[in-house]
Amino acid sequence: MFELSDDVIEIRDWVHEFAEKEMRPHAEYFDEHEETPWPVIKKACEVGLYSLDFWGQTFFEPSGLQLPVVTEELFWGDAGIGLSIQGTLLGVTGIMSSGTPAQLAEWVPKCFGTPDDLKAACWCMTEPQAGSDVGSLRTRAVQDGDEWILNGTKVFITNGGIADVHVVVATVDPELRHRGQAVFVVPKGTPGLSQGKKEKKLGIRASHTAEVILEDVRVPMEYLLGGPDKLNSKLEKARSGQSTGKSGGLSTLESTRPVVAAEALGVARAAYEYALQYAMEREQFGHPIIENQAIAFKLADMAADIDAARLLTWRAAAMARNGKPFHNAEGSMAKLKASEVAVRVTEQAVQILGGYGYIRDFPVERYYRDAKIFTIYEGTSEIQRLVISRALKAGLNR
Ligand SMILES: Cc1cc2nc3c(=O)[nH]c(=O)nc-3n(C[C@H](O)[C@H](O)[C@H](O)COP(=O)(O)OP(=O)(O)OC[C@H]3O[C@@H](n4cnc5c(N)ncnc54)[C@H](O)[C@@H]3O)c2cc1C
Repeated sequence: MFELSDDVIEIRDWVHEFAEKEMRPHAEYFDEHEETPWPVIKKACEVGLYSLDFWGQTFFEPSGLQLPVVTEELFWGDAGIGLSIQGTLLGVTGIMSSGTPAQLAEWVPKCFGTPDDLKAACWCMTEPQAGSDVGSLRTRAVQDGDEWILNGTKVFITNGGIADVHVVVATVDPELRHRGQAVFVVPKGTPGLSQGKKEKKLGIRASHTAEVILEDVRVPMEYLLGGPDKLNSKLEKARSGQSTGKSGGLSTLESTRPVVAAEALGVARAAYEYALQYAMEREQFGHPIIENQAIAFKLADMAADIDAARLLTWRAAAMARNGKPFHNAEGSMAKLKASEVAVRVTEQAVQILGGYGYIRDFPVERYYRDAKIFTIYEGTSEIQRLVISRALKAGLNR
């Protein structure tokens, strides 16, 4: 049985209040205009929510539940604005997964900045030819003395081009696939780093998504996360056929799966709450529509699905915090279930509102568009099923 500590409850309520008062009133504007919500991020920074202290404390809170709880509240507030905040955390997680303690101390503070000098980070992995197949990255990193030269194109990067810290996965030896990859920090303003096309999207439109182009980008050896010795030893092991453990890229994605699940839960819960309220107020044939079993049962399924997905999410988050490996693909189960629940619940919410669900004056239309991304980014539903079925085949799922 999961129980939230008083401290986590207090933080949850604080983030909820921020989401309600500072995010929700601006959600429609930033969705409509597809702009990065800098004023809201600034406010979050002013109150301490967009800060190293807050997220450090959240990551290391002993139960592991503060991270999904806080994330759910932010995405309950708004998914696009929530992702503008969480996008930075993806870059931060990349640094945490691969960097040395000294690199963490140097780069992580630079990912947030201050209210008057806001910063952001991003995680640059996906490429035009390498989405689900992350082993086939073509962005090349070539060593030149004490420097590395990076060349390639990244696509669909959250905060790509506008971030101060780009965390870039590149291949050093393409034949070794993910075992031949390394992770680099590329700061804003580095010659050769530029933003390509900014994408126009179905949902989470407040969040900036763009191509990142790397043309003869030179970075010093210190920007290689983990350092040269670790990389050389990994390459040596891979070339001699020994196991190298998970790459920085894969372990970053694995650790963020419960977080994406919590993001999906936030949107699902927002849609469910709205639909429930509406169903109790909207009258047709002389009584509230919730009096129809067809509507009440939809709401019952929505509530049960959200709860089930939350339990999977909290389990995975607690395991990740306590260093328990996902032998039974618990992270993938949480991400798969919560994202598909979000798609289903938001679709049902639109149905419960009827025509009003389909127009932009009501937020469920936005929730419906926002929810779809969770079955796609950071590993599609198909890839999560692949990971789960591999665990089944390995016979670990007992
Ligand atoms: C809004 C947005 C934000 C994003 N943010 C980031 C970011 O910050 N950083 C980053 O690096 N990436 C980011 N991504 C990229 C995202 O992670 C990829 O889009 C995703 O991993 C899928 O890759 P793909 O789009 O190339 O699809 P593909 O890999 O081409 O897949 C196409 C379809 O084929 C299926 N498929 C592929 N392989 C298999 C298989 N072996 N078995 C069964 N089915 C399969 C997929 O599930 C999917 O349905 C973002 C994407 C979007 C849309």
